[in-house]
Amino acid sequence: MLKIILLGLLASLAELFGGIVVVRGKKWLGKIQEYLLALSAGFLLALVFFELIPESIKSVGAISSLYILIGFSLLHFFEHTIVGHLHFGEETHQHEIVKPFAGISAVTGLAIHAFFDGLSISSAMLFNEQIGILVFIAVLLHKFPEGLTVASITLAANRPTQHAIFAAAGLAIATFLGIVAVFFFSNINENFVGIAFAFSAGAATYVGASDLIPEINRSHNRVTPLVVFGGMILFYVSTLLLK
Ligand SMILES: [Zn+2]
Ligand SMILES: [Zn+2]
Repeated sequence: MLKIILLGLLASLAELFGGIVVVRGKKWLGKIQEYLLALSAGFLLALVFFELIPESIKSVGAISSLYILIGFSLLHFFEHTIVGHLHFGEETHQHEIVKPFAGISAVTGLAIHAFFDGLSISSAMLFNEQIGILVFIAVLLHKFPEGLTVASITLAANRPTQHAIFAAAGLAIATFLGIVAVFFFSNINENFVGIAFAFSAGAATYVGASDLIPEINRSHNRVTPLVVFGGMILFYVSTLLLK
């Protein structure tokens, strides 16, 4: 349990750090975010196809398909259906964000996403520490860009820099709440974990393929899309190291 809380704290701190970087205006750190998004996308997708989907089918069988689709749809709903304008990376479309509630709804969508990040780490850790660490790496890689995203949304909404830090801190807290939420489920059996894995697989597919890859493809830096394959290789190396 202590290990899970520690991993949760690390992920939350990375998120807060992303927010601080935006407020301090550190440009070179902001540039790293693109590579981190690409690494994270490749890692996430490899994790989904090699670990999360096979494990959930092993635990609950064919019904896992339903939970994969639910995980995917829930993220789509909270990030892009009820939210007007949200994408990863630094927010530069000020005209979109200054619309009433645009900033608030984007931050809320990201907070729900962050909650599921935390929940995925802790439910995987409880079942299998090796998979848990892999999920943690996948989340950690995109936490810094996520903090950067939320802080830049707040700044684009013409709010004071303090609010940008508060927003990043809010996402850090949402991540941590996701980590501890799992401790409130009284019976963590194979069925629960199988469903949690399927749900995480759907959510992670959404984040990797629909939040991160479109951002990477929009970049003018043609190296970034290649880094996605680097993320897949990083996943493979991590599984070897964790064995
Ligand atoms: Zn934008
Ligand atoms: Zn996230």
